[in-house]
Amino acid sequence: MANDKPHAVCFPLPTQGHINAMLHFANALHFMDFHITFVNTEFNHRRSLRKADPACLAGLPNFRFATIPDGISFPDDDIDRSQDFIALYLSIKRHCVAPLRDLIATLNDPCSGGPRVSCVISDAFTTFTLAVTTELSVPNIFFCSVSPVGYLGSFYIKELIQRNIIPLRSEEDLTNSFLDTVIDWIPGMPNIRLKDLPSFIRTTNPLDIMLNDCWEETHASRDASAIIFNTFHDLDTPVIEALSSVLTPPVYDIGPVSLLSQYIPDHNSLRVNLWKEDSNCIEWLNEQKQGSVFYVNFGSLTVLTSNQFIEFAWGLANSRCKFLWVTRPDLIEGETALLPAEIATEIKERSFVTNWCPQREVLSHPAVGGFLTHCGWNSAMESISAGVPMICWPFISDQQPNCRYLCSEWGIGMEIGEEVKREEVERLIKELMEGQKGKEMKRKALEWKVKAVKAASLGGDSWIKLERVIKEVMLK
Ligand code: UDP
Repeated sequence: MANDKPHAVCFPLPTQGHINAMLHFANALHFMDFHITFVNTEFNHRRSLRKADPACLAGLPNFRFATIPDGISFPDDDIDRSQDFIALYLSIKRHCVAPLRDLIATLNDPCSGGPRVSCVISDAFTTFTLAVTTELSVPNIFFCSVSPVGYLGSFYIKELIQRNIIPLRSEEDLTNSFLDTVIDWIPGMPNIRLKDLPSFIRTTNPLDIMLNDCWEETHASRDASAIIFNTFHDLDTPVIEALSSVLTPPVYDIGPVSLLSQYIPDHNSLRVNLWKEDSNCIEWLNEQKQGSVFYVNFGSLTVLTSNQFIEFAWGLANSRCKFLWVTRPDLIEGETALLPAEIATEIKERSFVTNWCPQREVLSHPAVGGFLTHCGWNSAMESISAGVPMICWPFISDQQPNCRYLCSEWGIGMEIGEEVKREEVERLIKELMEGQKGKEMKRKALEWKVKAVKAASLGGDSWIKLERVIKEVMLK
């Protein structure tokens, strides 16, 4: 094994979306001749070994997986459920510094057989890793897998608190028109409404953990060596410029990372899947007409009430469209996601319902004409990369600002009201799949796709930025 390569330890926030984005980025670094150690939590690694082909986690020459504990003990029979996001987030903050330090010490031991660790790439919301990299005097590059607009919104939460705009005065502010208040002083986000800022502002509690953590983490970025965003220049220029002017470290836009890794041999061989992928849906899609299938997926963390689930289901059924719907086993609060018999019978001939799918393949399949999404940043970027217009139903975190940008700035999304109504679901699906507005959105989505592919093709702007961050920060 070559000992002269630079060695990056990549540590994502341990949820599916953050892992996927970091893994694409790690692939790109590997392609640029880095030795990679990709750090999973023990829980996720074990779970992924059970859900996916173990070869996906076997690594490659100069690409290894390592594990550290997340500080939460989980009974094995719970292994199909998502971990509670906030509990996990708080636990890794509290418990991962020492295991990360020990892991790097082991990697630096001459007996490890690999090169010494030369930099750490950590999720932008795991700033506790700075304690380890400062001790070791190695660069710590933050990889932001939430959207630039979500990160910028989180950065300004502190000022929103100082200006007495949040926390909300009462629960009523959630339903009266207070959330429509326009905030006109955040650079890069002109005329953003309170409701378009990260969902953690929707609290009356000044001590709310996520409210405070959000801005504290973004402000702690001052000690990072650089911050990388998963976007491309044409898409997010004003927001990236605003971030560059308020953040201390240099900012690089290097995305869409899922496209970067497409140009790399073996890019698909490494995967960390927390659910078992059902590739039969691709065979089903192969039998469908071009652009005729509506795809529905709420990502890995969204939880619906059973009423919302039923309203979505009837909306889909009544639209008369063919659709592919991914219903994770833990999609519905406290219940298994099973369709009521009468809906199942109604949609049998024109739908494919499964637990988890290879989403990037689905979105780039010619049969797929539209996507109902929770607006997770990875899903949004994957849809933009495939030229698929969206219906947006944001759930938490950066999904509210993502929805706003998809609908109002980029012209490729239509929003469903928070309170899901079957008639509205039906109307929007018909509009997207058959209406004039849908055609216009499809045209715009294809324009964005061309720009995304251009940025991420070898030699494109995102590769140039990757070369720059390597030279200016990682190897410095
Ligand atoms: N994903 C997938 N199959 C599915 C659902 C999701 O492969 O059936 C992937 C998707 O491609 C994306 C990630 O899981 O990369 C979800 O991340 P996102 O940021 O969209 O949402 P989150 O799960 O974090 O809410």
